[in-house]
Amino acid sequence: MTNLSAVEGMIFNVQHYCIHDGPGIRTTVFMKGCPLRCLWCQNPESHSMCHQIFFTAEKCAGCGKCIPACPIGAIHIQDGKAVTNRNLCQSCGVCTTVCLHEARNMMGTRVSAGEVFNKIEQDKIFYEESGGGATLSGGEPLFQSEFAASVLSLCKKAGIHTALETSGYARWDILQLVLPYVDLLLFDLKHMDPSEHQKCTGVSNELIKDNVIRIYHQQKKPVIIRIPVIPGYNDSLENIEATAEFVACKLGASVPVNLLPFHRLGESKNERMGVQGLLFNSIPPSEQHLKELKEIFVSHGLTVQIGG
Ligand code: SF4
Ligand code: SF4
Repeated sequence: MTNLSAVEGMIFNVQHYCIHDGPGIRTTVFMKGCPLRCLWCQNPESHSMCHQIFFTAEKCAGCGKCIPACPIGAIHIQDGKAVTNRNLCQSCGVCTTVCLHEARNMMGTRVSAGEVFNKIEQDKIFYEESGGGATLSGGEPLFQSEFAASVLSLCKKAGIHTALETSGYARWDILQLVLPYVDLLLFDLKHMDPSEHQKCTGVSNELIKDNVIRIYHQQKKPVIIRIPVIPGYNDSLENIEATAEFVACKLGASVPVNLLPFHRLGESKNERMGVQGLLFNSIPPSEQHLKELKEIFVSHGLTVQIGG
């Protein structure tokens, strides 16, 4: 029998006291790895399962301590800042241990399910008082399904409410491994048109739509639909109308909808990883436009809120 606590996975953050990742006060575990490549991604550090170096230029004092620390000579000073040759860097992390200014951070830690559970359990009192719990996010938690199932199972055994934030892009047998330990799904719907979905996320949406219907109707799991509102991509009245119709007709009017306005946080994260900024050059949607989109869902009898 598998020792659930010993199952290992890659995460890049554990955030306590979250209030936008499901009901009540929650601890959110951000897992690495994702099969999608949304052009507006706000957590690009989640894409790869590998360790990655995050460099924050504003924090760099130009002291040069990291230069001799790097075993392969990948760092030099340019205009008073430590520049990393990303073609040479092996992401060994040695430079992060000598930087006293926290300009260099390692994204990605290998941990056991037991270690993650211990961090979650610390805040059990807050969950009990607020109706909260633990949320797995990412990245795509289903990308590390055995690890996700182990963490969630440990939470369930301890009586902690569990939520899974997902793109829904996974084979059904993978979902079946995890679903028994999930109390609530925060399920993303990005675009109703399969070719538009393919163009901006790298995958089509047929599997995603099938999965959410099966999860809700066959498995009887509570679902909240989350729609990232990306101006110029999915915020046309036509697409929002199609999305509202899908939710109301294929799921049901009792399924809540959250509209999540796009922001540009992912851009600075990409820069800190030394890769090109956001590939989808959008601006945050206006309040007026969000209200207009909200009305479309309301006209389908759905309960909708702006924000998570
Ligand atoms: S050790 Fe840190 S502060 Fe000093 S040069 Fe390197 S990155 Fe900058
Ligand atoms: S992570 Fe390792 S290889 Fe990359 S710059 Fe830092 S010390 Fe050098």
